[in-house]
Amino acid sequence: MSEQRIQADQLMQRARQSLAATEKALDTAIKSLREHTLVDGRVSASKLDDYQLVSYDTALSAAEATGARFALDYAERVRNQEGGDADRPITLEERCALLFTAEAIESIRARLELRPQDYGLSRTELAETLDSESLQLFCAEQLAVTQMAELGKSIAGMDGNTGAYLLDDDHEMMRDTFRRFANDVVMPLAEDIHREDRIIPEEILQGLTELGCFGLSIPERFGGLQADDQEDNMGMIVVTEELSRGSLGAAGSLITRPEILTRALLKGGTEAQKQKWLPRLAEADPLCAVAVTEPNYGSDVAGMRCKATRIEGGWLIDGAKTWCTFGGKAGVLLLLARTDPDLSKGHKGLSMFLVEKPSSEGHEFKHQQESGGVITGNAISTIGYRGMHSYDVFFDNYFVPEENLLGGPDGEGRGFYFTMAGFAGGRIQTAARAVGLMQAAFERAVSYADERQVFGNSINKYQLTQVKLARLAAYLLASRQFTYSVGRLMDQGEGEMEASMVKFFTCKTAEWVTREAQQIHGGMGYAEEMPVSRYFLDARVLSIFEGVEEILALKVIARALIDRAGETEA
Ligand SMILES: Cc1cc2nc3c(=O)[nH]c(=O)nc-3n(C[C@H](O)[C@H](O)[C@H](O)COP(=O)(O)OP(=O)(O)OC[C@H]3O[C@@H](n4cnc5c(N)ncnc54)[C@H](O)[C@@H]3O)c2cc1C
Repeated sequence: MSEQRIQADQLMQRARQSLAATEKALDTAIKSLREHTLVDGRVSASKLDDYQLVSYDTALSAAEATGARFALDYAERVRNQEGGDADRPITLEERCALLFTAEAIESIRARLELRPQDYGLSRTELAETLDSESLQLFCAEQLAVTQMAELGKSIAGMDGNTGAYLLDDDHEMMRDTFRRFANDVVMPLAEDIHREDRIIPEEILQGLTELGCFGLSIPERFGGLQADDQEDNMGMIVVTEELSRGSLGAAGSLITRPEILTRALLKGGTEAQKQKWLPRLAEADPLCAVAVTEPNYGSDVAGMRCKATRIEGGWLIDGAKTWCTFGGKAGVLLLLARTDPDLSKGHKGLSMFLVEKPSSEGHEFKHQQESGGVITGNAISTIGYRGMHSYDVFFDNYFVPEENLLGGPDGEGRGFYFTMAGFAGGRIQTAARAVGLMQAAFERAVSYADERQVFGNSINKYQLTQVKLARLAAYLLASRQFTYSVGRLMDQGEGEMEASMVKFFTCKTAEWVTREAQQIHGGMGYAEEMPVSRYFLDARVLSIFEGVEEILALKVIARALIDRAGETEA
């Protein structure tokens, strides 16, 4: 084994030891949270509310630690990959993974040490974990200015590349195909769509339909591209990432809706509903949208009010939905409505419908049925995420036939569960959207830092820019590999909590990455004509939809961590 290999291995080992010490402190914090919130052996929602800040910070810290672990695993796989030279000096991937690990540890340390008593951490425990000499030495070495600036110099000459993707041949081919589509078709149209607030044009929709994009999550037996017996989350991730690199609003989010509908149909649809809808969704005929959020109920799904009243042959829908993205262009809406007027039934009174309507391109639409029922929609003006328009939608005695109640008569009252099943893939997909957006911003940052001359030098010759590029690369690499690793877990039927973690982490990170990329552009970063100004605006939505970050942290991740701690205790 070469001397260089030994050095790299030792560094990676120190990173793992430091991370393990950090995770030990986190375990104590989670156990303490469990003790405070458990009532009769179950987590009490109201008790958990008394610990919101601790829960939020614990969830974020656990997400960062998980991301670091996946980044180190990945760097090791790169070194040992077939055909590679395992004896080579420290690789770019290892340097990025080490830097990310040190940064993650330091931010976890900052959070826990700010109020150790609230995490149940004693001084002795801190001394053995986050304050241990070996952990601090590891972080100090990795975060030394010269070390980071050196990494930044290497990154500056790499055209936005942060190392191997480590995909198999099939997924590499998918990546290549959709990257070309994003470069050739999406990117030239993206700025106009954003600035003029246009609907996504046929060039993009038709091209993606021909590439099979809308059938990616639909099993082959229903006319899609997914194998019947095996989920391919990786395929969906790679395609979403590349399209989001082209534009989040104009391409990267197009698969989200058919994916949600498909999962809901596969979970709850009758055989006839699957046979009818899935092949059509795979062909984008019709396009679809999701109408769950209401003006007064977003995070609090169980309280929803939009109602469906049974009449002969079907149901009448009355009420309002909001933020229904692509609701105009869509020919079918997945609607969550209250079929049991008894509000005390909460989420058990909700059912799911497939609501058909004519497709429309404008910022407003209205359709009156022969029976007199009306559906209207008005697009909400947004700062970014343009291309699909998100609508306020109103239903007035709008008739939906019996056959469009998801799951048939057995589906009544089960809409909440079908919604949850539908959204299960949305989190990992949104992580992939965040990664694609970050990649786009990073590429622009790297090239502008090279082109722009200030005080007689390219800005990438200055230390501060080099450090920025190093950190951006490390966070981007970690976000991508975190997403891929969770995708692989999901392909094996695992990774539910990790999917929430990676959504939470990557979406937050995308805000910072796009902000830094914009900052590197100076004044030009604020000009509408520069794509980087759009990236920053688009990034803001990621932490809001598909599970608003606070609810993900408090009600999903923190709860799951507490439950998991209970399982290891038992
Ligand atoms: C561009 C865009 C597109 C969208 N597309 C769709 C779509 O296609 N279909 C659809 O159905 N919806 C869509 N949404 C809606 C989105 O899913 C919701 O906005 C989201 O679920 C949050 O709900 P809300 O807006 O009602 O926020 P609220 O629930 O009102 O939350 C407001 C704030 O309070 C926080 N909060 C809420 N509860 C708690 C609590 N218990 N403790 C502490 N903090 C809390 C939240 O985290 C948030 O920060 C879209 C939203 C946007 C912005």
